[in-house]
Amino acid sequence: MWKRLRQFLTFSIAATLVAPGALAEPAAKTLFGSRQLPAVMKPAAHGFYSKGCLAGGIAVPTDGPTWQAMRLSRNRRWGHPDTVKTVVQLSQDAQKVGWNGLLVGDISQPRGGPMLSGHASHQLGLDADIWLTEMPERTLSYKEREELGATTMLATKNGKLDQSRIGSAFTQETFGLIKTAAAYKQVERVLVHPVIKAELCKREKGEGAERRWLHKVRPYWGHHYHMHVRLSCPAGSPQCRAQAKPRADDGCGKEVKDWLALLNPKKPKVKVKPKPKASAKKKPVRRKPKPQITMAQLPAVCRAVLNGPQPAKVEQVELQLAGGRAVVPQAEPVPTPQINPFNPFNKVTLPKFRPTANDG
Ligand SMILES: [Zn+2]
Repeated sequence: MWKRLRQFLTFSIAATLVAPGALAEPAAKTLFGSRQLPAVMKPAAHGFYSKGCLAGGIAVPTDGPTWQAMRLSRNRRWGHPDTVKTVVQLSQDAQKVGWNGLLVGDISQPRGGPMLSGHASHQLGLDADIWLTEMPERTLSYKEREELGATTMLATKNGKLDQSRIGSAFTQETFGLIKTAAAYKQVERVLVHPVIKAELCKREKGEGAERRWLHKVRPYWGHHYHMHVRLSCPAGSPQCRAQAKPRADDGCGKEVKDWLALLNPKKPKVKVKPKPKASAKKKPVRRKPKPQITMAQLPAVCRAVLNGPQPAKVEQVELQLAGGRAVVPQAEPVPTPQINPFNPFNKVTLPKFRPTANDG
């Protein structure tokens, strides 16, 4: 009798533990999005740009002599030390081409990983969005950094974007900024709007090897108010998966033409109104929600990154400048509050986030 009861209880508890749905682990974006500080570990990018995480991330300080970080509430100023150093280096080198300084957009979450909103990539701490608007002379307030709209580089017509023409906001300095970023050895590619790519192709007067940087600048949707700078897998990241290299030519020919044709389809000369069919009632299209990335789909090491120790203070994980040179700080690790991912009553604190139209 007791044996039977014990068997029954054991079975019931086991059944509860594996009950589908009720005890499922939250999506990886919920877990990674709840971490406010990085994992103090040897810096490494694990996985792919759109499916991975970041160990040993550091932050670009909110303010520097040659940059200001934007959208601070998102807490996405974190990256692999090589990325943060590159951003700071770009902010300094940009001044040599007459660019006052950088407005730094999203890099990654403190531990990388999928995000609660926006971006499919930016998961390894190797992607950085840099605004194509110069840093102003004055220091922007927190509110301004949240709300200031980015300026498009495209021409506008009756308040609408013209997807076929460059606008007056694009200058020779903008050209210099993008060229400087693309020329860095560690930069693997730079994403910009096809119209911007066409403009870069036109403005680069050099020939042969002097045009080589252009092959790294890739045309892509959006990206008309910021550029997306992507670094190659850094040293010490054996689990980082490289992206296929862009073609070696400057990409100024057919590729740009095809993109522009795609963005600006030719309208038929005579408009033919299709006759509505009485019988064909349109059923409302139900879109399936995108499947969310689970912890199991990320490299196994990402769980250790999620739960790894955190720094005692945020200042310990912000890049420092010593005589203009970037110095990666040493952090003292303390335990990170654990998330019990299988506890359905577990409260995950989400960072405050206000979406904007400028998500790229
Ligand atoms: Zn981006």
